[in-house]
Amino acid sequence: MDLTLDSVASVASTGKSSFGEVSDQIRAAVTSCAACSLRSGCRAPVPFDGPLDAPLGVFGEAPGGVEDAEGLPFQGPSGLLLNRTLVALGWARSRCYVSNVVKCRPPGNEKPKRPFVASCRPHLEAELAAGRFRAILALGSTALSALTGEHGAVSAFIPREDLRVTVGGREVPIVACYHPSYILRKRSEGADAYEVAMRVFASQLRRAIRLASEDVVEHPERDPEVSPEGEQGLAQGDEVSGRDVEGDPVAL
Ligand code: SF4
Repeated sequence: MDLTLDSVASVASTGKSSFGEVSDQIRAAVTSCAACSLRSGCRAPVPFDGPLDAPLGVFGEAPGGVEDAEGLPFQGPSGLLLNRTLVALGWARSRCYVSNVVKCRPPGNEKPKRPFVASCRPHLEAELAAGRFRAILALGSTALSALTGEHGAVSAFIPREDLRVTVGGREVPIVACYHPSYILRKRSEGADAYEVAMRVFASQLRRAIRLASEDVVEHPERDPEVSPEGEQGLAQGDEVSGRDVEGDPVAL
């Protein structure tokens, strides 16, 4: 790959390139990559979505079928669930940098094996070197292990408040959470199981949003995607349940 971690860190820290230029370099490095065998089984590598200086970085596992077809991370049912939960909490996807730790779709949407996570790591490191996120939301065990270097079930990470990663030269908190596809699969276990999983999902997203909002000196212009209901919901700290993010079908 043409883009090295050093080069990204250099341009990001010297200010000689704008975020747009650094972003273009990272995107070009991802889209032209053929460093592992996953590339031959997908339509194309799926780069990130959103600005590198977004307050909140959201990292998932790998593209699925819809993401591979559309060339963007977190599309389809999982993306809808993420987007709607963010809005219900008073945030918006446009204030997130959204990416996956593995950029090419694994065959059959299977969980990416560790060698593929390792192959794709230079792209992740470039994103972390250039990013300005104040917090990171890690969705699923693959994203968590890539970001923390630790392995284990997501449920073991969720209570932890000590998870950190270096972003743009400073330590930022990582909030662990289930992947939206896991939440959607919970529907097959009944309404109660889905509601329990949804409450954990919303609770962790709320925590990530609060951390991403800390130290914000300049408040960005109000985002039109943030609904008045959503802003009120965050201010009041209400619980967000599955019913709050229902709308058009979010189903597998
Ligand atoms: S998965 Fe990552 S390392 Fe492998 S080809 Fe795709 S972009 Fe390159």
